[in-house]
Amino acid sequence: MKTDIHDQLGLRRVINARGSYTPFGVSRSHDAVAAVVAESLKHYFVMSELAEAAGDRIANIYDVESVGFSHCAAGSITMAIAAVMVGEDMDLLYKLPDTCNISHRVVIQAGHLVNYGQPVEQAIRLAGAEVVVAGGQHGCTVEELEAALDTDDVCALMCVESRLCKPGTVAADQAVALAHKKGVTAVIDAAAQDLRLPDVLGFGADITITSGQKYYAGPTCGLALGSKSMVGAMALQEKGIGRAMKLTKEGIIGALAAVELRVQTDMDAWSAEQKSKSDDFAAHLNQIRHLTVACEADQTGLPFLRVRAALDEASAGHTAFQVAEHLAANDPMISVQEHELDKGVLNFEIIGLNRSELEIIYERLSDLLD
Ligand SMILES: *Cc1c(COP(=O)(O)O)cnc(C)c1O
Repeated sequence: MKTDIHDQLGLRRVINARGSYTPFGVSRSHDAVAAVVAESLKHYFVMSELAEAAGDRIANIYDVESVGFSHCAAGSITMAIAAVMVGEDMDLLYKLPDTCNISHRVVIQAGHLVNYGQPVEQAIRLAGAEVVVAGGQHGCTVEELEAALDTDDVCALMCVESRLCKPGTVAADQAVALAHKKGVTAVIDAAAQDLRLPDVLGFGADITITSGQKYYAGPTCGLALGSKSMVGAMALQEKGIGRAMKLTKEGIIGALAAVELRVQTDMDAWSAEQKSKSDDFAAHLNQIRHLTVACEADQTGLPFLRVRAALDEASAGHTAFQVAEHLAANDPMISVQEHELDKGVLNFEIIGLNRSELEIIYERLSDLLD
């Protein structure tokens, strides 16, 4: 018998047009991934063997030396910075977050100071590191980045690849090369960029971090791709400040299943289906009064379209904020992206939605605006 969790607990259903958004459970897993996760929960494993075997498989797929896991990408950021600071020195590891006498400064460009639900600089500081910000409101020049990297006691450069980043930053590949020229370790947080992971790996960072639960749609898990020594030093952190960030068996097994499912998926066909779904949805919404709707490419280069609906607030008699509130105030609640509401624009990320859910969004908007 199928149990309905929403009904059992009296919870609202969510039509999530915001994307891989943590407060709504991030993503929905494929049946095959859910099945292997459920199976994993029934067994013991030698966790170190499980992590190594699953890591080797993923490392093979992406042609990197090693892959490690943590509870989530934010945990991987903290563990990576801790690993850069102390390596395999257990005395220093147990002292963290006390970084007395250790190179402990981490450079990050001002435009990369994103908040993904937590400010990224806090994930860095949690390891005991101190953040050195390069550049400012205007962005960051190569000279400013170089000057920051020349600060005493710098051990790492943290780069963020995300649509949350501000424009005007030094591109990741160039920033990584600058760091390496100065003997500084480079870490990239590409948590929601798994769909273009091979591109991001090409930037040459020592550790590249991504999430297992965003577009991979696995259970929550952070993946760190890099050299055997860096990934090994990160794993050691589970005996220290990484204890609360440790990998789980279901996370590792689910991440592996989700990555392998991605590899088996015909991504060209997937993109074509996403494009057709977005085009159809945009054309449909365009029939609603007061809305001007178009599809837009993702600015970071993810292989799908975003649907952008500009509201004529004056003629509609509603602001975009009010429309978003109206959509969210029901069961199922409908949630749209918020970043352009102040400009009168509703943005939809729909790759995780099916056509019948899109029809509900259309109807709810049409009821309000037509
Ligand atoms: C989502 C996200 C994170 C956090 O990922 P979790 O796996 O939820 O910890 C970190 N950085 C960026 C850029 C993100 O988009």
